[in-house]
Amino acid sequence: MSLTETDRDVTPARKAAPRPPADGAAEMPSLIGLDRAELAEALASIGVPERQRRMRVAQLWHWLYVRGISDFSEMTNVSKGLRADLERAFTIARPEIVSEQISNDGTRKWLFRFPSRGAGRPVEVETVYIPEEGRGTLCVSSQVGCTLTCTFCHTGTQRLVRNLTAEEILSQVLIARDRLGDFPRGETPEGAAVPSEGRLVTNIVMMGMGEPLYNFDNVKKALLIASDGEGLSLSKRRITLSTSGVVPMIERTGSEIGCMLAISLHAVRDDLRDELVPINKKWNIAALLDACRAYPGLNNARRITFEYVMLKGVNDSLAEARDLVRLLKGIPAKINLIPFNPWPGSAYECSDWEQIEAFADVVNRAGYASPIRTPRGRDIFAACGQLKSESEKVRARERKALETDAARSALSSAGG
Ligand code: SAH
Ligand code: SF4
Repeated sequence: MSLTETDRDVTPARKAAPRPPADGAAEMPSLIGLDRAELAEALASIGVPERQRRMRVAQLWHWLYVRGISDFSEMTNVSKGLRADLERAFTIARPEIVSEQISNDGTRKWLFRFPSRGAGRPVEVETVYIPEEGRGTLCVSSQVGCTLTCTFCHTGTQRLVRNLTAEEILSQVLIARDRLGDFPRGETPEGAAVPSEGRLVTNIVMMGMGEPLYNFDNVKKALLIASDGEGLSLSKRRITLSTSGVVPMIERTGSEIGCMLAISLHAVRDDLRDELVPINKKWNIAALLDACRAYPGLNNARRITFEYVMLKGVNDSLAEARDLVRLLKGIPAKINLIPFNPWPGSAYECSDWEQIEAFADVVNRAGYASPIRTPRGRDIFAACGQLKSESEKVRARERKALETDAARSALSSAGG
């Protein structure tokens, strides 16, 4: 994500009224997140004859992913009898919206509550929407908490509660589009894809809570449905998966999902990366970059994004900028400099703005595009690395202190 606006104004965010769950059948199996074969099996289980299943699957797919409906009664080309059977056995309801916050810069953050549905305990998940000129990016979570403990990341302080299911990952996209009014209303002929013109959610980044490559199967399933041309139709070039460096899963990400890859690099030496991104002790920088070089589909038009969080006095020297350029030589790459977003109890400070610019200069002069990611939605705790779900809520006093901090750093990053 290369973000352009600044969040100068950090007065408290508005809070929208929460919405109750769409139906009372929270624990029924959901049809969301099933692939076509599984949908056919679901139909078989309620007695739909085999010769009809393909056609019925296509109808369901259209209603769920082109029209975005969440109530069987809206499936007007499906007979009443079948609708009633579906409703008795399954749900297509959205999760509960616990809160919806809208930042002064237009960034939105939702807290969703998913019922257990046999997947383990009910969980609360954060999803963030970032509108920009000409595009809108949805930052999707893959796990609640994280097994990894990157020292600068708020999510890393929360132990893994559980992996999200494909339904839960995909539902974040569906419900965000609901709330943004991003599904076509009125007639859309069956078989028609969602128009990509004028959409509000144009991009997905797997950069919310969790390490997506430690939940590979569910992430893959959800992303293949999101990019299916007869459904949500998001281009794979507009879906980016960010990993801290789960090396053995990188090849499969390219060959089986085919999305864009982002790597949380953050350091150019193993001793420092061991500390900041502890998974580096398992797969070091050399192993990680080898996997990147071999990423299927990699070329100058499909580059890997290397993310680099700017930590004052820790990894932000110009010598490190030069080493970074040397390290990435030969890899079609973009470098994304992320100003560190503070959180209560974090041990780091964000680099000074002049230092970030000087660092970016070195990288730019070497021929890399290196957008500095402007922090978005800090006033509602929606910026990178600030996500952490309800189980350990930020106390009001800490939040106040952080808001003051965020206001200060937003002003300094705006050059004011
Ligand atoms: N687990 C995955 C994806 C989620 S984090 C990963 O680590 O790549 C998305 C990005 O935000 C990562 O690059 C992560 O390193 C970065 N990040 C985490 N905490 C941050 C913070 N406090 N400030 C800025 N960026 C942060
Ligand atoms: Fe987990 Fe990514 Fe945070 Fe590291 S940066 S703790 S991998 S969410």
